[in-house]
Amino acid sequence: MALRNSQYDTILRTYYSRQLEHKHEKDKRVNEVYEHVPAIAEIDKSIASMSVSQAKKLLSGDTDALATLKSDIACMADKRAKLLRENGYPSDYLDMKYDCPDCKDTGYIGSKKCHCFMQAAIDLLYTQSNLKEVLAFENFKNFSYDWYPNDRIDEATGLTSYDNMHTNVMPACLDFLNTFDTMHGNLLFFGDTGVGKTFLSHCIANELIKKAYSVIYLTSIELFDTFAKYEFNRDPEVKAEDMYEHILNCDLLIIDDLGTEMNNSFTNSKLFYCINERIVNKKSTIISTNLSFQELIERYSERIFSRLTSSYTMLKMYGDDIRIKKKTV
Ligand SMILES: [Zn+2]
Repeated sequence: MALRNSQYDTILRTYYSRQLEHKHEKDKRVNEVYEHVPAIAEIDKSIASMSVSQAKKLLSGDTDALATLKSDIACMADKRAKLLRENGYPSDYLDMKYDCPDCKDTGYIGSKKCHCFMQAAIDLLYTQSNLKEVLAFENFKNFSYDWYPNDRIDEATGLTSYDNMHTNVMPACLDFLNTFDTMHGNLLFFGDTGVGKTFLSHCIANELIKKAYSVIYLTSIELFDTFAKYEFNRDPEVKAEDMYEHILNCDLLIIDDLGTEMNNSFTNSKLFYCINERIVNKKSTIISTNLSFQELIERYSERIFSRLTSSYTMLKMYGDDIRIKKKTV
């Protein structure tokens, strides 16, 4: 899904107002400090006039004078930081603050869009706003092993539901997070309804969003609706990769509840396209499904299944319905 011009403008306006807001806050801090510590105002005046001389020397090519000025300015800046600390302020108190220090709230690093622009576009296009509310509750801090009973044993592995979470599922999730940049791993959670597959996907999403990765969360029905909407109104001039830029290139795509969509040749081919492109692009995907391993084989084409088994860590989850237990903790 590409951004329309008006949507692009909306995002840029947000950046602009954020810059203004931060500038306003900085001015307020400056006035406050000047009032309490007039010596700092004097230093700032001197630094400003020295900077003007520095620019003039630079133009005239007077390198010796330039070096002296540079060290004078550095000396003044040290003095200013010391004065701030002595008066109880942090030494960066008068610096501009940014929501995104990487692009200084411009949305761009050079001519390239910043990662925060990508997430802003995703939030706008995929109405992810409710995801943020969900993540406030569904995160590792609120996860509990107590939801997984010790008396539910998987026949195939002999592991209790608790041991399975402890020795298989959670280590795989942490490994996925720790090697996110280098291994570009993929996870597939499968198991009964309510055993915490979506919850764990949310926990992982939360950790990555905190580190400024772009994340899209879609149920499988929403994913295929998006493909259908654009595929059937498609402009033949536009390449498919451009239409699905974010779905194919966001750092993490979560496809929740795979198997609840209509199963036909369209969904099968789009699922393969999506999974395969993301593997090729070295972008991670998390899929959760209530389908069993056998049902996955029966429902999806062999080439999809082979991609899943070769590139995904398959994690079976079982136990009681944690949604009931969560309410009681
Ligand atoms: Zn940024």
